[in-house]
Amino acid sequence: MRIDFTGKRALVTGAGKGIGREIATLLHRLNAQVVALSRTAQDLESLSTEIRCQTITADLGDETEARRAAEQAGDVDLLVNNAGISILAPFMDAQEKDFDQVMAVNARAIMIVTQIVARNMISRGASGAVINVSSVGSKFGIPDHTAYCASKGAVDQMTRVMAAELGPQGIRVNAVNPTVTLTPMGEMAWGDAAKSKPVLDRIPIGRFAQPIDVAHVVAFLLSEYSAMVHGATLPIDGGFLAT
Ligand code: NAP
Repeated sequence: MRIDFTGKRALVTGAGKGIGREIATLLHRLNAQVVALSRTAQDLESLSTEIRCQTITADLGDETEARRAAEQAGDVDLLVNNAGISILAPFMDAQEKDFDQVMAVNARAIMIVTQIVARNMISRGASGAVINVSSVGSKFGIPDHTAYCASKGAVDQMTRVMAAELGPQGIRVNAVNPTVTLTPMGEMAWGDAAKSKPVLDRIPIGRFAQPIDVAHVVAFLLSEYSAMVHGATLPIDGGFLAT
């Protein structure tokens, strides 16, 4: 089994750092033509010195920018909706503006970008694949993660609706649900060992995820080797949810 995306154009959102950067790099290694979208221009500049890619700078939390960026991406065959943010607060202190911001980036942007990309796929008669990067936080309640968990629950459900509607049009849609992954976001939320140890202790594999653990699964789900996997929300959690 050898994954080869020659001739495929892949849009990866949130490609500047962390998981998205790793996915963009892996897809490039697998011969995809990568379009890297992110918010901080310097991250994209440095990525483009490492891999050959088209770059798009946009804030996906802004609906007009999200639409403009998706249109700028052109003919996309493989879409990875990875960009995400987390704003932590105890439930009783959670702020409306933070809730709206997290939902806009983590959930609404997926709807906007996928609508534009899928419309383009359908108009070209192209088959395609979409991966939404969700989280184990969609499947259990994490203290201080009100907006984040709500947004990832929305991502899982949107994935199922998208699968129901886009499958008949030749577009496969799946989500991946990583556990704590060692990225800038992972460090921000879980850098405190007192907080992370109880979670780590519940992972039978005995470690947190690395970005490449997520990227490998995304590549598989984008490839023809997962042709019958559709509408799944796949944990990448070392067995956390199984225990
Ligand atoms: P990260 O290290 O913070 O990187 C996120 C990337 O997305 C950054 O390049 C960031 O750009 C970009 N981004 C954020 N908001 C954006 C916006 N409004 N418009 C455009 N780009 C934006 O995060 P990560 O850990 O790699 O997370 C990637 C995905 O995995 C997220 O959906 C996250 O929820 C999910 N996930 C992460 C973990 C974890 O523990 N790390 C676990 C489960 C799921 P800027 O830095 O310029 O804002």
